Amino acid sequence: MRCAWGRVIMVPMITRREFLRAGAVLAASLRGPSLFAADESFSAWKPGLLDIHHISTGRGNSTLMILPDGTTMMVDAGALQRNTPYLVDEKPDASRRPGEWLGRYAKRQLEAAGLSGIDVFMNTHLHDDHLGEFAPDLPEAPGGGYRLTGITDVANIVPVKRFVDRAWPDYSYPAPASAPFAPFIKNYRAFLAAQVKQGSTVERFQPGVNTQFRLLKKPAAYGSFEIRNLIANGEIWTGQGSATKKLFPDLTGMKPEDFPSENCCSCAIRLKYGRFAYYTGGDLPSATNYGKDPWRDVETPAAEVCGPVAVAVFNHHGYYDAEGPGYVRALRPRVFVELAWDSAHPTVNSLANVYSKSLYSGERDVFATALKPELKITNKRTSDFKSSNGHVVVRVAEGGESFRIFILTNADESNRITATFGPYPLRSS
Ligand SMILES: [Zn+2]
Repeated sequence: MRCAWGRVIMVPMITRREFLRAGAVLAASLRGPSLFAADESFSAWKPGLLDIHHISTGRGNSTLMILPDGTTMMVDAGALQRNTPYLVDEKPDASRRPGEWLGRYAKRQLEAAGLSGIDVFMNTHLHDDHLGEFAPDLPEAPGGGYRLTGITDVANIVPVKRFVDRAWPDYSYPAPASAPFAPFIKNYRAFLAAQVKQGSTVERFQPGVNTQFRLLKKPAAYGSFEIRNLIANGEIWTGQGSATKKLFPDLTGMKPEDFPSENCCSCAIRLKYGRFAYYTGGDLPSATNYGKDPWRDVETPAAEVCGPVAVAVFNHHGYYDAEGPGYVRALRPRVFVELAWDSAHPTVNSLANVYSKSLYSGERDVFATALKPELKITNKRTSDFKSSNGHVVVRVAEGGESFRIFILTNADESNRITATFGPYPLRSS
């Protein structure tokens, strides 16, 4: 080989395959922790792994977890059926309802892993982007009694054994559901009643405990695994035993319009496996009504009692009233996941907090499930995202020693990997 100034450089002979491999390694090193693995299919879960699938439908939140002993859990099953200019286009497309795509996704992952059924479904709060929007023209469930959307679609495809939400059995705190959410909550409750008749169980989320979501198959083999219930309905774990305290004032005498919002009532959990920790908390906000009601900031105390984690899900999809400085500072994750489906997911202020090195100095990568393309212009910082379209899968190695992020295509049901990131090592805390 002759270099530009005429001197001959001796280069050892390499095969074409070695040359291509060297090129791939160089390209990967230029992308930081990312290793491109296009056209490979995501390998099935195996015992000891913890897989957390943030499913991308562009129409609401849903996360499927396969725990280390094969216990399965789903958090939320949002499905927005309406069409507005603010929403992301349906993923993979509009040929099926979002809830059907969710159910099919879960079935595919579970079958590949030799598993069947969802052991427990946890709903963070009673909104349609977390449970499924109602419309009178949706098909009726087999057997009748309710219509298919969100979780009801999922359960029609994959059986669900237990349901946990913040309001069972009376759904009356802080007040009975009113328009526009009443029809879908009515549909959800009719669905739950039918599920109970078929042998499933329903429970109210219990803040503070670490026993409501447990490994059901081989708990003794994975002693470091724990799911801690952090908060629901403004009742928060104190960090001592399973004790809780209440953040909301007594509602007696309060005007209904001043009651805690549905988002404020969200349930949050912390999952731990070895050195790995993960936070997810629905739509908990930190906005205080401009300082008037400090108790409305439920996000900060929830993050503080949770403590640092490796992976944190954005509260409220990255909306303007969440991802406050207290949340970012307390959780200081290596990876953020944003469950996005709207032109305001995320907003400029929340992203400024998330990337602020004043709040914590460590490196951080952000992954979004489905970004509205216009955000690349209106919220420039989204160009720093490691990924902005596709299922975001966190795979934690056996024992919780490290984790990787896999992006799976949401263009079809192939399970094709479009990018991988990591492994991210985990330090002992
Ligand atoms: Zn939401």
